[in-house]
Amino acid sequence: MQKTVCDVLIIGGGPAGSVCAMTAKMNFPDKEVLVVREQELQMVPCAIPYIFSQTLGSVENNLVSCAPAQKFGISTMIGKVESVDTDKKIAYMDEYEIFFDKLVFATGSKPFVHPTLRESLNLKGVFTVPKNVPYIREMKEYTDTKNRVVVVGTGFIGIEMAMEFAENGKEVTLVGRSRHILKGSFDSEVAAMAEEIIKSANINYIGGEGVDKILENNGVVCGIKLQSGAIIDTDIVVLATGFKANTDLAEKANMKFGHYGGIWVDEYMRTENRDIFAVGDCAMRRHFITKQQSKVMLASTSSAEGRVAGSSLYGVKYLKHFSGTIAIFSTVIGDMAFASAGITCEEAKEGHADVVVGAFEGMNRHPAAIPDAQKQYVKLVAMRNGGQIIGGQIVGGQEAGEMINLIGAMIESGMTIYQAMTMQVATQPKLTAAPTMYPLTIAATMIAQEISKGCTLQ
Ligand SMILES: Cc1cc2nc3c(=O)[nH]c(=O)nc-3n(C[C@H](O)[C@H](O)[C@H](O)COP(=O)(O)OP(=O)(O)OC[C@H]3O[C@@H](n4cnc5c(N)ncnc54)[C@H](O)[C@@H]3O)c2cc1C
Repeated sequence: MQKTVCDVLIIGGGPAGSVCAMTAKMNFPDKEVLVVREQELQMVPCAIPYIFSQTLGSVENNLVSCAPAQKFGISTMIGKVESVDTDKKIAYMDEYEIFFDKLVFATGSKPFVHPTLRESLNLKGVFTVPKNVPYIREMKEYTDTKNRVVVVGTGFIGIEMAMEFAENGKEVTLVGRSRHILKGSFDSEVAAMAEEIIKSANINYIGGEGVDKILENNGVVCGIKLQSGAIIDTDIVVLATGFKANTDLAEKANMKFGHYGGIWVDEYMRTENRDIFAVGDCAMRRHFITKQQSKVMLASTSSAEGRVAGSSLYGVKYLKHFSGTIAIFSTVIGDMAFASAGITCEEAKEGHADVVVGAFEGMNRHPAAIPDAQKQYVKLVAMRNGGQIIGGQIVGGQEAGEMINLIGAMIESGMTIYQAMTMQVATQPKLTAAPTMYPLTIAATMIAQEISKGCTLQ
């Protein structure tokens, strides 16, 4: 057994582990930071769906190595950590013992499949979407030879997979248990816009239906049976039914866990042991308003947590001003971007929050005759009392991917609709909506009007 010593050991080199390592090295340049990850080459997880169409076309076009980390003076070891002794501060690999001072679990997540469907994973042609290079390579080779695909799950991964298969000429069915797709991220009327695009891409979309059984013929998948009894013949089933925290290692180390199985952490990503941290999908998360535990798993949230932990390893260096995930993300469906941050109106109402909504549809260029002009729909959700912006949804052109980050910053900074109404925005005919019709400020103004109904100046 060979011995290695480091100051900071980070187990996992996904977005959370990598960002944590870079932040740690920048904040504590004299410390030896070591990242252990299972694969030398990893995929950009968010780009996995694009391997299945011509956008990327192969696993090879989606690979990143550990080279950037080395440039920052971060050491990397490839292999699996089998166990950790948190008292002795030693991590064990096959041939190595790693002695550490601080430890960060960044072991990520793995696909979740409902127990009733788990056995079907042994069938040829049934897949999940793990962040695993050899698995996705094999899946790509197999799916390239078949034509009919059923994707189960209407979260953004299921939708992106379905759209890319369809773009590649396959006959695609998309099945989801919720009445609308992208549940939790978009209100029904926004989800309905996305459903229309999905249908116009020739995808057979079936909402509000569960899968009863996956059908087989001699160990090869041949169809699915829905709870309604309907049968859909298929060559491939992709189960995009969620992810769960990968805590195998933390369980062996007797760490404390949160409600949804993530490693328990405080605001600074510290576990109960001040020398041990957890970041990313393997860590427990809180909802930014209710502070209840959250199931959200996103690279954006994971990276932010990596930054918090990386700067807090040797004491709290920067005060964390915002707590909880705002579930900020965007996706592309057809030629439209769908982006969301914070809570939806429906979620707010379910949680009995007193909110007001403003929604405005305009154009993303001005005048609308500019050749690449597209519709741009912005919806804001704000607290009736105080007017703080707590959610936003955008449907539009590519700029929605960055505009949602502006809404995210508004939410995190506690901005009110009154500030948003008078916010100064840069506008340009070929780049943005008109200053007179800027959807964010109009949506904020609509909320202000709604709140002030009945209030008159004396
Ligand atoms: C298809 C797909 C599309 C997605 N699209 C988006 C998107 O558009 N936007 C977005 O924000 N999020 C997206 N996500 C979610 C995002 O990828 C995850 O939230 C993110 O990868 C979590 O990062 P992480 O670093 O916590 O974990 P992971 O990325 O899961 O990385 C975990 C790391 O831990 C390592 N590891 C685990 N156990 C061990 C061990 N015992 N020893 C050594 N190493 C170990 C693994 O090798 C890996 O390096 C997508 C996910 C998928 C699957």
